Amino acid sequence: MKTRCIIVSLLALGLLLCGCAAARKKVSRETFAMDTFVTLTACGPQAEQALDECVRALSRWEALLSTTLSGSNVSRVNAAAGALTPVSRETAEALEAAISASELTGGAFDVTVYPLVDAWGFLTDAPRVPEAETLRAALEKVDYQHLALTGGGVRLPAGMGVDLGGIAKGCASDWLADILRAQGVKSAILNLGGNVYALGKRPEGGKWRVGVTDPAESGSVAGVIEASDTAVVTSGAYQRGFTEENVYYHHILNPKTGMPADSDLISATVVSKSGARADALSTALFVLGEAEAISLWERDGSFDMILITDDGRILVSGALSFTPAEGTPYRVERIG
Ligand code: AMP
Ligand code: MG
Repeated sequence: MKTRCIIVSLLALGLLLCGCAAARKKVSRETFAMDTFVTLTACGPQAEQALDECVRALSRWEALLSTTLSGSNVSRVNAAAGALTPVSRETAEALEAAISASELTGGAFDVTVYPLVDAWGFLTDAPRVPEAETLRAALEKVDYQHLALTGGGVRLPAGMGVDLGGIAKGCASDWLADILRAQGVKSAILNLGGNVYALGKRPEGGKWRVGVTDPAESGSVAGVIEASDTAVVTSGAYQRGFTEENVYYHHILNPKTGMPADSDLISATVVSKSGARADALSTALFVLGEAEAISLWERDGSFDMILITDDGRILVSGALSFTPAEGTPYRVERIG
């Protein structure tokens, strides 16, 4: 009897350990979607199946939200010349989040930036500095306040256009996390080209650790943030741009001037429960620069941030858990 009890207990312990090992096993998928490399890692028995569904969903969303794929919801809105265009639920959700971010940032984030992005050739393989007249004409066509989103669809005056490049990956990270949760996944880390979403805790226990890229040395990190059920998104001039006549032009445009944002920041990282908000705000904070980014953070309260300034400081908001990398050349300052 005693021996049987011991055997049963050992079996139960064995099963428990196997269960734990299965829960800790990390499964990953790598894909290219939304113009970026995507790595999705999840843990637990449902991980394989859930990640396959995530990869399928990403190509579906790309086909809806892409600015360049003909037939996407966005391309149809941009070609509609003022007509009402019905859009999918996801597109409406992304546009709604974009409009709300535009309002919050006074248009530093402006989803109707398409004519400018097009004038700079950022949607082609050959971006270039536009002629002054081209830039002036494009600038007149940028103003999110003319974008109308109703139950019936989207309406935008002729010549205007939307570009979800500054928010789509963040939206996708939220939706991927929804898919994973619905499938019973409790632990995952999603990376869509620097748009990171940390779901739950690490399988080993404790929060996920997300590196903040050193903008002066891509490939190394300036520090690490602890994250759980949170998005961490970074925008910076170093991420995309081109050089013409020895001048570097980057892809984050100031909707007020039409030029690449002349920022005193070299990167802006936003930490928020919402990936969409984190994505839009990281773009906006970069445009706004240090002083206005800080006053927006003080006013809003729905996000935290890490700003890296062009004079070598790292500004960390609130009680954000940020550990600078050893030997980092930046001086860390707390704000708030
Ligand atoms: P991100 O990498 O998230 O900072 O977004 C940059 C992308 O968003 C660019 O490649 C453009 O497609 C688009 N974009 C550029 N400037 C803005 C802006 N001021 N507001 C909204 N979207 C922008
Ligand atoms: Mg963004």
